[in-house]
This record gives sequence, structure tokens and C-alpha cells, in this order.
Amino acid sequence: MKLTDLSTIKALCAAHGFSFSKGLGQNFIVNPGICPKIAGAAGIDESMGVLEIGPGFGVLTQELARRAGKVVAIEIDKRLPPLLAETLAEFQNVTVVEGDVMELELAALLQEHFPGMRVAVCANLPYYITSPVLMRLLEQRLPVEQITVMVQKEAAERLTAAPGTRTAGAVTYAVHYYAQPQMLFSVQPGSFYPPPKVTSAVIQLRPHAAPPVCPRSEAAMFRTIRAAFGQRRKTAANAVSAGLGLPKDTVLSALATAGIPAAARPEQLTLHNYAALSDALGAAAFCKSGTSGNNAKTPIQK
Ligand code: SAM
Repeated sequence: MKLTDLSTIKALCAAHGFSFSKGLGQNFIVNPGICPKIAGAAGIDESMGVLEIGPGFGVLTQELARRAGKVVAIEIDKRLPPLLAETLAEFQNVTVVEGDVMELELAALLQEHFPGMRVAVCANLPYYITSPVLMRLLEQRLPVEQITVMVQKEAAERLTAAPGTRTAGAVTYAVHYYAQPQMLFSVQPGSFYPPPKVTSAVIQLRPHAAPPVCPRSEAAMFRTIRAAFGQRRKTAANAVSAGLGLPKDTVLSALATAGIPAAARPEQLTLHNYAALSDALGAAAFCKSGTSGNNAKTPIQK
């Protein structure tokens, strides 16, 4: 079934009484060149298991199933599994799991479906939860070789920016802590049905074997980063002081200990700088402002 044909899509909609949900980010790929390009960039082969998030009508799933040993596709929209049973009928190596990617036990899912296999994540992500999904995949340190996903272009630029540059945001630092990101290619709105209002881009994240910095507390480092970018127009000293509820002198002294200029702006700091700054602020600073230790959740999603 050729799911890049508009006539096929419209016939499926009519037969199943399906209408696209904006709220679930349902913009399906109709440009026939895109799915092979995504699967090719992900280097999928038959030794691999692929986790797909949001199969929609299954256009990318078909391409992945042709190349991979096995595909597991998580779909939240209850209307889609019956439709996918039809569009994916020719593939014996696909399992559709109905559920929310933000709630399912992903590590258990991978263990159950891909024992002993190399694993990749591939998706045209629903744009309303791009960063939460990516952070969930990275924070759980799932045993995946790479994550190749389509996201909104603006998000792609932030996710793949180099720390210490103007495009960087809090999420940039979190991504770099867990993985090596790369911008692959842009995709125009006309490549989707219905077309979104924004340009998209495909990015790839390759999780590190070990993080590039070792702060005493990951949670404290992420809280410092979030505080800094909470007010990115201010200096890092003012933003961290306001965000963590600490006296400015305490933050200035920690900046000096960490070897960071007092007037530096949040996006001028490197990941090493944030690790050193949170170490210099010390446990007391984070106890005082409410959370401490490694158990606090990484709060970065923008
Ligand atoms: N892969 C298809 C394609 O490229 O044409 C569809 C991609 S569409 C941008 C996003 C898909 O993610 C939709 O099928 C939507 O229903 C699904 N989705 C949205 N939120 C989800 C969630 N929290 N968990 C799992 N799937 C979700």
C-alpha cells in the first residue's frame, strides 16, 4: 500500500472515518523521498531492532520494516492500530504497541522485543512533545545506538547547537551531556499531509558511553543550567542567583572558584563550566532551594 499517495491516504481516512488530530501532532509524511532518507541515515539493517514513536498510518514503519530485523511502533491514538493492521499487513516483523511514549516502560519494552539485538530509535515525532520525549529517551540511558528523528527545524537547531553559542538553550546542554547530536537535513512543509506551518529537520543523537563531564550531582548541574536559562538575557550570576534563590555574592564567589568571568551570559558557559559552577555552589545551595542529590529529576525540556 503506497502511503505517500494522497489518494491512498484519503481512501484510508474515508474507510476508517479518520480525521487528523492537530493536538496529537498528526502531520504524515507524503514525500516519497523522505522515509528512505531517514532510514538510510539511521543505518538500519536486519541485525537491528527499531523503536518507532508515532507510526501514524505507517509510512515510515513500512520503510523501517523493509530494512530492520524487527520494528516496535508505539502509537497513542486508539483509532490507528486497526488501520495499521491493514497498512502493515504484509510485514511480519512489526509490532504495534498502543500507548503513550511518555508513560510506557521503555527499557522493559526494548528488553522484551529486542533481546540481543542492536537497537535504534526512529521517528517523525509529534512536535508538541519533542524535547520531553528526547529527554526521556536520554535520561533513561536506554541501550540504543542512535536516535534519528524528525522535529521542528527551530527545535532541531537548539537541540544540535554547540554549547557556548547563541542558539544554545538549556536543552542543548542536556543533550550534549547524554549524546553527540547532529543536524542531518531539512524538510519542507509540503512533504507532509496536512502540511504543518513550520519547516522540519531530521537530527541524530548518538548516546555517549560516558558523559563528557562528571559533576558531583547531575541534578544540581541541571538545576543550575535551568536557573541560568530561566532568565537568559541576564548575566549567569544574576540568573542563577534569582533562579536558585541564592545571594548574588554566593554565586559570584562560586563563579570565581569555577574560573568563570563574573559578567558571562548563560549561553557563553560550556558544559564543563556548569559542572564546575554547580560543584562550587555546593550541596548546601541546592538543599536551601528545595532539591538536592542525584534523585531529583532532570528538569530540562526546552
Ligand atoms: N510516522 C507517521 C508519519 O511520519 O507519517 C506519523 C508521524 S506524526 C508527526 C506523529 C504521530 O505520533 C501520530 O501518529 C500521533 O498520533 C503519534 N503520537 C502523538 N503523541 C504520542 C504519544 N504521546 N505517544 C505515542 N504516539 C504519539
